[in-house]
Amino acid sequence: MQKIGILGGGQLGRMLLQASANYVVETYVLENDENCPAAHLCHHFVKGDIRNYDDVVNFGKGLDAITIEIESVNVDALETLEQQGVRVYPKPSAIRTIKNKIVQKEFYKSNGIPSPEFIVTNSKEELAKQEGFLPAVHKLGEGGYDGKGVEVIRSKADIDRGFDAPAVLEKMIEIQKEIAVIVAKSDSGDLAVFPATEMLFDSKLNLLDFQISPARIGEQILWKAEAMAQKVVEGLQSPGLFAVELFVDRSNDVWVNETAPRVHNSGHHTIEANYCSQYDMLWRIMLQYPLGNTKPIIPSSIVNILGADGFSGEAKYEGLDEVLKMDNVFLHLYGKTHTKPGRKMGHVTILSNEPQELIFKANKIKNILKVIA
Ligand code: ADP
Repeated sequence: MQKIGILGGGQLGRMLLQASANYVVETYVLENDENCPAAHLCHHFVKGDIRNYDDVVNFGKGLDAITIEIESVNVDALETLEQQGVRVYPKPSAIRTIKNKIVQKEFYKSNGIPSPEFIVTNSKEELAKQEGFLPAVHKLGEGGYDGKGVEVIRSKADIDRGFDAPAVLEKMIEIQKEIAVIVAKSDSGDLAVFPATEMLFDSKLNLLDFQISPARIGEQILWKAEAMAQKVVEGLQSPGLFAVELFVDRSNDVWVNETAPRVHNSGHHTIEANYCSQYDMLWRIMLQYPLGNTKPIIPSSIVNILGADGFSGEAKYEGLDEVLKMDNVFLHLYGKTHTKPGRKMGHVTILSNEPQELIFKANKIKNILKVIA
């Protein structure tokens, strides 16, 4: 039986483990919180820090393969494990390229992949000299996540909000739509591309809170986006599952925003809405089986369940019964016992051939389902 490890025990790890039940595999999770969403779904939970070299090497020693659910892992340790013969998905070199936004942006540039024009700033003082480059978006090189580590700098007055650390200053794109394309690559080099997902954001929290799949965009633009996503994955030269986030601008030009080298929020719907889910796909890759069918069975939308404003503490769910009574609606709670404003507590998938229904039900669920304390 193959022993497979996951670095990180959050909701993505949890959903990955759910899909593992279809295969004969022994699962391991490394995370520093024994009550994390994935802790009770794996065979072996190991308490430790995914950013600590020794913790990761000790965890991975003797495993057949290892994957990540977040980029902020100790890449040196993964390199050591790779040298010891553990298969690492994706390769540590690909994680290294993506983990730091400066390196990631330079990778796009040197591979001829369209991505917003940028300059590197190492301090607030350097940022202050770039008034001519505004409006722009300032992104922390390392350590940012979920919109933290990203600041919009429209004019001189915003410069104070910028980062006093290595960061990229990126030209502001006039976004028409944000989409994501998930690409799977096997050890033998086969590629499978999931249809694009359209993402809609809560501008206040700067967090994804609603998405529709397949994305409602013209075929030509989709082809461009898919070709670009494939080029990113080919450039990374690694098997694994990758989510490429892209912008479609007002002139229908497509730009790569960023890439996640792992299962991704933009692929939650694939559990119910596609023949092969992103999670199943990653198991196929790690177990060296043939890739699955990425085609949608039916269009879908997703609503994220976020902790309500003004509530922190033990989570209580309001409106669950009403949501569970709705047809073709699938609830996923991540098992987090505590809520705080904006925390990702779960998601709901809605299936329908009617675009109107996808949007109507998503809005309805957003209004009735509340996570309070
Ligand atoms: P994170 O890794 O925190 O998700 P992103 O780089 O995806 O950060 O940026 C978060 C959001 O900020 C994006 O989804 C987009 O809405 C906005 N954004 C990022 N870069 C740009 C840009 N160059 N132009 C316009 N908006 C941007």
